[in-house]
Amino acid sequence: MDSEEAESKLNQKILLGPGPSNVPCRILNALSQSCMSHLDPDFFKTLDEIRENLKILFKTNNENTFAISGTGSAGMEASFANLIENKDRVIIFVSGLFGERMADVAGRYNAEVVVVKKDWGESFTFEEMKEVIDNEENIKIVSIVHAETSTGAKQDIKQLGEFLKLSNIIFVVDSVTSFTGLDLDVDSWGIDVCYSGSQKCLNVPPGLSPITFSDKAMAKIKNRKDKVKSWYLDLNLLQNYHSKNRIYHHTAPVNMLFALNEGLKICLEEGLETRINRHQEVSVYFSSKLANSPFEYFVKNKKNILPMLKTIKLPNHISDNKRTLLLKDESLEIGGGLGDTKGKVWRVGLMGCNATNENVDIFFNTLEKYI
Ligand code: PLP
Repeated sequence: MDSEEAESKLNQKILLGPGPSNVPCRILNALSQSCMSHLDPDFFKTLDEIRENLKILFKTNNENTFAISGTGSAGMEASFANLIENKDRVIIFVSGLFGERMADVAGRYNAEVVVVKKDWGESFTFEEMKEVIDNEENIKIVSIVHAETSTGAKQDIKQLGEFLKLSNIIFVVDSVTSFTGLDLDVDSWGIDVCYSGSQKCLNVPPGLSPITFSDKAMAKIKNRKDKVKSWYLDLNLLQNYHSKNRIYHHTAPVNMLFALNEGLKICLEEGLETRINRHQEVSVYFSSKLANSPFEYFVKNKKNILPMLKTIKLPNHISDNKRTLLLKDESLEIGGGLGDTKGKVWRVGLMGCNATNENVDIFFNTLEKYI
């Protein structure tokens, strides 16, 4: 091992938190390619590839599929900034921090937000959501988080999407943590806007938000009477760059897009179904190890436990401070609780290339030394 390699190994942390996840060398190499202009026709080939690969992975034919410059929150903000016109009525189903964030963002764009809440860690049934929608009037947008990273709970969205597809309501889904780790079928599930983040199951550094807009969503945006309140995230302007026109809007983060392109290729080489199954198999292995540990899952309903993000309750005799030691002495990152769960749970991410039985063993074996 030469000294550079030894140093990079030394600095390498095992990122089993809620993201970012570890970045494979292939993606790091792509990131460090020579920079080129965002208006270079050679770079447009990369943008074309990204669009086509995202379409395959989102399972959509939407032409308006690209990566927003910014993290997952930028995707969330782009969705609401473009869709909401003054006083539009928006239902947001909330059972964790990121649902709460959606409601906050939608409110800032002057929506009349109907927040429907469940306790953290729970998920909505289709019947519960349908009843709310049936009893509300003049709803323009319904929005939900597919994989609630603050709680580790999965939200079934297929039936909801199929129901909304038959209406004029726009369906917005946060797939920041679920994308390429959980089954997600944008077109057949009737999802109109779906955004994600680069740093979770894609194993690309944080900084990009893959997003897709259906024709139904585009029609609402095109028919707006006023300008989108965010210049940076205005889809009408972004489209000029991300469509065939390739007209300058802002300087695209060229190297991050190289990295994303590589990340998408890795997913496709593995195969989407294989990748999703791998997350599921590793999840089963994690559960078997958890059963022999002092921990238990925070999410009560077993069928809603996310494969790529395990939220586990801390037993009384284990202090949250142990996480600091794991990071300092073992270079092992585990996420802590958010909001009311702070100090009460740990969040263990097994995302993308990090979804391996070996990492599950590393987590439980390392932990044994500290508890
Ligand atoms: N939505 C969900 C479900 C998330 O897990 C996150 C981040 O963890 C976000 C949105 C916000 O993404 P970012 O932190 O990349 O802005």
